[in-house]
Amino acid sequence: MRLAGKVCFVTGAGSGMGRAAALAFSREGAAVGAMDLKAEAVAETVAQVKKAGGKAVALSGDVSKEADVRRAIEDAVKAYGALHVLYNNAGIFPGDDHSVIDTDEAVWDKVFAVNVKGVAFSCKHGIPHLIRSGGGSVINIASFVALVGCSVPQDAYTASKGAVIALTKSLAVQFGPKGVRANAICPGPIETPLLTQWLLKEPKEKAKRLNRIPMGRFGKPEDIVNLGLYLACDESSWTNGAALVADGGITANYF
Ligand code: NAP
Repeated sequence: MRLAGKVCFVTGAGSGMGRAAALAFSREGAAVGAMDLKAEAVAETVAQVKKAGGKAVALSGDVSKEADVRRAIEDAVKAYGALHVLYNNAGIFPGDDHSVIDTDEAVWDKVFAVNVKGVAFSCKHGIPHLIRSGGGSVINIASFVALVGCSVPQDAYTASKGAVIALTKSLAVQFGPKGVRANAICPGPIETPLLTQWLLKEPKEKAKRLNRIPMGRFGKPEDIVNLGLYLACDESSWTNGAALVADGGITANYF
């Protein structure tokens, strides 16, 4: 098992790629501290992990609130005695986030609170535990939209994911010498509730995006989680400060 003996803290673990990561990490032998906003959603993830024979503890809270993140990390460490991986996946993609010229201040505040401060708080309270555990891996979920412009903009979201990549590189340089690697994953559009609930519901919008993907399909949660598994385990022990893209070729596509 690739993660035997490791403890992983996963945010946004009640849905989509976070739930898929919790399940995959536990299948590979990790004990998982699974955090999400909704207690019922994360309890369902933990139930699925346990049904499959894995170990996980449900932690509810809001990643944009430092006290919630600190408590969740402390509870994970209490449950399993150490911490080796931070999988900072919780993120929002609000429908009222458009171009910079018509997006309200409240949207910017909300998006940055969750997508950027959420990652920072997890690193603030998690990295000291990773160092104490003899080293570890920070995996921050960014997005391909931080790497290319988009004519259908979500500017607050895009800027927030750019900040995640920048922060990841800073962490990689600061904490690499202490045995803690930090990398970002930049997923392309993945079929999770975040996308299917609104964007992919409209056939015209769906076709417009599909047309831009050389692989001819949207991503699946496991396309990203497999990269997460690689970054979480020791196979990636020399990968540090990278922003790894898994997007079916979108960012390589001119025409
Ligand atoms: P998802 O299905 O919506 O799952 C995100 C989870 O995070 C949800 O359970 C959500 O809870 C939770 N969450 C939201 N705000 C939170 C908060 N403040 N504190 C704690 N948990 C919170 O989304 P996903 O598609 O799996 O996305 C996971 C990550 O990948 C996000 O960072 C997203 O930006 C990124 N990403 C997604 C795509 C894509 O196409 N899906 C592409 C690139 C990057 P609620 O359901 O209660 O809101």
